[in-house]
Amino acid sequence: MNGAVMSTQTLVQLSYLVAAFLFIVGLKRMSSPLTAVSGVRWAGIGMVLATLVTLAFMGASTFNLSLVIGAVVIGGGLAWVSGKRVAMTDMPQMIALYNGMGGGAAAAIAAVELYGGGSQSTAHLCIALIGGFIGSVSFSGSLIAFGKLQGLITKSIRFGGQKIVNLAILVGTVAAGVAIVAGAHAPAPLISAFFILALMLGVAMTLPIGGADMPVVISLYNALTGLAVGFEGFVLDNAAMIIAGTVVGAAGTLLTQLMAKAMNRSLSNVLFSNFGESGAAGGTVAGTQKPIESSDAGVMLAYSQKVIVVPGYGMAVAQAQHKVWELCQLLIEHGVQVRFAIHPVAGRMPGHMNVLLAEAGVPYDLISDLDEINAEFETADVTLIIGANDVVNPDARNNRQSPIFGMPILNADKSKNVIVIKRGQGQGFSGIDNALFGLDQTRMLYGDAQSAAGQLIQAVKAAG
Ligand code: NDP
Repeated sequence: MNGAVMSTQTLVQLSYLVAAFLFIVGLKRMSSPLTAVSGVRWAGIGMVLATLVTLAFMGASTFNLSLVIGAVVIGGGLAWVSGKRVAMTDMPQMIALYNGMGGGAAAAIAAVELYGGGSQSTAHLCIALIGGFIGSVSFSGSLIAFGKLQGLITKSIRFGGQKIVNLAILVGTVAAGVAIVAGAHAPAPLISAFFILALMLGVAMTLPIGGADMPVVISLYNALTGLAVGFEGFVLDNAAMIIAGTVVGAAGTLLTQLMAKAMNRSLSNVLFSNFGESGAAGGTVAGTQKPIESSDAGVMLAYSQKVIVVPGYGMAVAQAQHKVWELCQLLIEHGVQVRFAIHPVAGRMPGHMNVLLAEAGVPYDLISDLDEINAEFETADVTLIIGANDVVNPDARNNRQSPIFGMPILNADKSKNVIVIKRGQGQGFSGIDNALFGLDQTRMLYGDAQSAAGQLIQAVKAAG
């Protein structure tokens, strides 16, 4: 009998090890667009294995199997349908929501442990509390981030003394946590107060953050969710959760650092200063926008030696990547040297533009990131901007009053000519005007990115 129990335990732990191995292989493969899809599959198989093993060997007496299966069917079904339906442009909101769900699930495990009472050791209680705290902050903060990205929350709410209020909530949460650990059997209202305060902290921390800072916040919550799951893995003594949580936490932390670097900001600056405020004026923009016809733009492109293409969120909205690549192939046939310049926060999620260009079949050697290409704009005859705005706003370099001052940008303004495809006078995500659009060398090709790229294809063909 004992031997049978031992072997079951060994089998479970071995399966978790295999699952963890699959997570790590999956993550490694996700680091390149070439192998990313298979990476998602590897990690998915790991997750299915870990879930099935947990269900099969946990022992039906310790939980209500029908409730668990009901939750898996409802949760899995909703995720399947929403995952299938979601538009590429809504993916960032989806990621924010899933981050939040992970944090919420970790907090729920902590809640079961804490409300359940029992004779946990102090160390066990502390780990459950830390995981519950981080998970709750990540849950409510991610929901606010979702609301902002979905356009449900349009204003960044700020008021005098906000940091003091946030600090007070943090102190209150920690005090409740200490009281829970100190008391023999913490009363339910105290535990509830702990969770409510932690949830409030997530909301209070995220509400003031806006505009161009959102990428940093989303990746931060990604990291926090991983950490919370890792902590709760210790609580449940579940190796798969510990490893998966740690891997996500580490990857999320690196991503947060990369995103913060892309904005030239420290994390504390993002969390505790009012940078990136939506709708801030940031000074006046000189010059008027000068429109151009697609036929003239086509001639300019066809007779250029070097064209740098800067894609942005508008290209994703219009799903214009295929037409853009068709246009570029035509230009390459004409002997034009074409390069794509990708800003790390272009679009609405890390790697957004890389994914779209990979989908269209653009070869990787034509794609350069900000550091690689910024010196080359001066040698470009035309920079063709497709639905990008904030990532090419020279105010980030030149205008100290601008809310995005200090953010590294693509130096499109340094090229000889600039053609900007966008539908009208709309602002970018940070809600500020763009000084580039009024410069002498800039021409605006108004229209939806996909149809404008189609018109340019015709124009380049007509230009011979
Ligand atoms: P922006 O959001 O700054 O600008 C996009 C522009 O595209 C708009 O000015 C809009 O102008 C235009 N546009 C919209 N739809 C279309 C269309 N169908 N056809 C043509 N143009 C269109 O995009 P960027 O990529 O330059 O910058 C990304 C911004 O998003 C940054 O501020 C970044 O911080 C933020 N962000 C990034 C995240 C990330 O992880 N990458 C996550 C969250 C936020 P018009 O309406 O006139 O057409």
